[in-house]
Order: sequence, then structure tokens, then C-alpha cells
Amino acid sequence: MGFSSLGLHSEFVQTLKDKGYESPTAVQQAAIPVILKGLDVMAGAQTGTGKTAAFALPILQQLWEKNSVEGESGNIRPVQALVLTPTRELAQQVHRSFKTYAKHSSLKSVAVYGGVSLKPQIDALKTGADILVATPGRLLDLMQKRSVNLSALKHLVFDEADRMLDLGFIIDIQRIMKKIPADRQTLLFSATFTDEIFTLSKTLLKKPELIEVDARNTAAERVEQAVYMVDEDRKRELLSYMIGSKNWQQVLVFVRTKEGADILAKEMIKDGIKALAIHGDKSQGARERGLAEFKEGKVRALVATDVAARGLDIQQLQYVVNYELPYIAEDYIHRIGRTGRAGNEGLAVSFMSLGEEYLLEEIEVVLDNRLSQSWYPGFEPDMTREVPSNRKNSRNAQKRRFKDRASGKKTGNHRRSS
Ligand code: AMP
Repeated sequence: MGFSSLGLHSEFVQTLKDKGYESPTAVQQAAIPVILKGLDVMAGAQTGTGKTAAFALPILQQLWEKNSVEGESGNIRPVQALVLTPTRELAQQVHRSFKTYAKHSSLKSVAVYGGVSLKPQIDALKTGADILVATPGRLLDLMQKRSVNLSALKHLVFDEADRMLDLGFIIDIQRIMKKIPADRQTLLFSATFTDEIFTLSKTLLKKPELIEVDARNTAAERVEQAVYMVDEDRKRELLSYMIGSKNWQQVLVFVRTKEGADILAKEMIKDGIKALAIHGDKSQGARERGLAEFKEGKVRALVATDVAARGLDIQQLQYVVNYELPYIAEDYIHRIGRTGRAGNEGLAVSFMSLGEEYLLEEIEVVLDNRLSQSWYPGFEPDMTREVPSNRKNSRNAQKRRFKDRASGKKTGNHRRSS
């Protein structure tokens, strides 16, 4: 199937061809025709499935058609499409996609996000923007300063909506919604569909078309997943050994905390592996530089927290390591979605130490699949060890969940559990 059969004009099809896209991905096939009809959409699609183009292309086409009917007057056009994203990295990435896909038109995209000074963003908005890509907090700042007016908005997108809720943006979203016209098209994209997402969708969307290209909450199909049980204090040694012995050149390593990211990166450097930590305490400039060095192959291991890694689009990334399993089971899907992108193969390796089994169990509930566990030769865990005291409560919680499940009670709680 080609892009033109989805209803896209030849100008857009040519741009995609120039970019090397041969055929639409599953989410693009399902979403583009529906969005072009002007309907609301709620789509379950992970990062890496081509979801950005799935909403950007039909929005651009609708704006383009409207502008050619109304004529491109010299007046500054008000914002007609708003994309809300949870992180600045994702905002930049979505903005770049809009710019690429709108190449042949005069439609203009502007991105606004926190962590950098307001002035250049205010200046960019002064000359007008058709599409605004924004993180919620910075958008509110700009709205309060009257630097942005959303009264003519026609299209609203929530990208990675599950993440926006996890990061506590709900109040910001409610405040933004008060300034947005009710007569609009609303699109909600989310890697996972939790009860909270369904509740949110009821207040935002009108009779949405539900698009689920991947089975609900399944991990990226092409990603091979492996879990190794290893003692906590031998994880770093195992990681450095795997990277060295398997000659992995570009590895994204996930940890839970900012401090943990800094410490691990430093220790890996001592092991002779060029590593760098990125997390929310690093400046925007430092994060961008780090990411660029990783992309260029100057940094071999990028050690990241979940928040910092959202929105990273690294083509060809083959290896993801969960140095620590996430507390939020859905984060596992986001993490491993960093590899196996756009049809490439990927490997996701997870380290699990004694007492962390309950985290894997929650991940398996979300995946609706069992992951095979093994020991890495030479790094077999010491099973005679005491479970660390700070994990004992978690173990009790695990036992409770097992009991509940055995008695048929639904646990369904994949939120932060310790
Ligand atoms: P996304 O899920 O939007 O983050 O996209 C993941 C990656 O896939 C991005 O690098 C896109 O440039 C790329 N991509 C999107 N659509 C296609 C397509 N139809 N064919 C090839 N690559 C694509």
C-alpha cells in the first residue's frame, strides 16, 4: 500500500519518498484516512511505530487545504494546530517532523518547552505559527504572558498522553483546555491505555475512533527480550562485560534515579567504556550535546532515567539495557520501544536482582506474556543471600498479589509500588 492511497496529496507523498519512506506503517495506514476526515482519534501506538507522521501528515494536509481555499494572506495566521508533549526532547522531535513534512508548503511550526529562556520562543511566536508543539508548563507560561492565542485552534494532539499523566500534567492540561475552542479535532496518542487515559479521553474527545494497531500494551514486536538474574553488586561488572565482549557500540542503559545514572556512567568510564549520563538535572544544552555525541558514536553507552529518555529518536539503536527494572511497569514498554524502531531489529536486556522479581511480574502482566529468565555464565546470582531489607515489603506485596491472583482478584496496579 502506498501513501497516496491513504488520501494524501502528491506533494506530501513526494516529500515522504524523498525521505526514504517506502510504505506507511500500520498506525499510519489506520490513522491517516480517519484524521483526514476530521474525526477524533484515540490511538494506541508506541514510540517507534511512526505515530508522529500518522498525526502530522493529515493535520498538515487539512491546514494546507484550508489555507489554499482562504488564500495565504500576508496577515499573521493564528495557531491552528497544537501538539502537547510530555518532554522537551519529544517536542523538538515532533517539531522537526512537522518541518520536514511541511517542506513544500508555507506552513510554519514552532516548538516551545521549558528549561531554556522564554525570549526566543516569544519572538518566534510573534511572527505567527500554524502549528505549535509545546510542553504543558511552558505553554501555560506563554499563555499567561499573552504571547500565544489559541482561540482559532482547530486541531489538538496529545502525544504520549500516558506519560503526560505520569508526569503529573493533568492540572496544567485542564487549565490549557479552558482556553481552547470546543469545536476542534482532538487526537490522543498513547503507548499504553490505562484507566486514567480512558477517563481523560472522555473529557477531551468526541466519539473518537479507536485505533489499536498493536495488541494493547504489547512490546515492540521486533525486540528480542532477555532477563538475567544477577546480584545487585555485580550488575555493573556484567554490563561492562556484555558491552565489551559482544562489541556493542551504541547502548542505551536505563536506571531509576539521576544519582544512579551519574554513578553508573562514572564507573563505566573507569571500565574503559565511554559513557554519559542524561537526566532531568542536566541542562537542556548538556542533554542535547550528550545525545548528539551518542548518535555520532562518540559515546558508547548513554545512561538515562525514564523521563530523560522520552522522545529520544535514535535510528538504528540496537541495544537497550534495563540496568534496573522500572517501578512503573508501563515504562518497560517505553524503554524497550527505543530499539526496534521503524522495522529495525533490537535487543532489550534486563538485569534483575534478588527481591526484584515482583517488578518483572508486573511487567509480565502488562505485556501479557512471560519473559524468559536466565543466568549469565560467570555471573550466576548467589541464591543463599538475604533479600535486602528495603525490598522485603515489596516481597510481601508480591506474595499478596500472587495470592490475589490465585483467588481470581484483579490486582491491576502497575503504578509506583515502592
Ligand atoms: P515515531 O514513532 O513517530 O517516533 O517514528 C519513528 C521513526 O520512524 C522516525 O525516525 C521516523 O522518521 C520513522 N518513520 C516514520 N514513518 C515511517 C515510514 N513510513 N517508513 C519508514 N520510516 C518511518
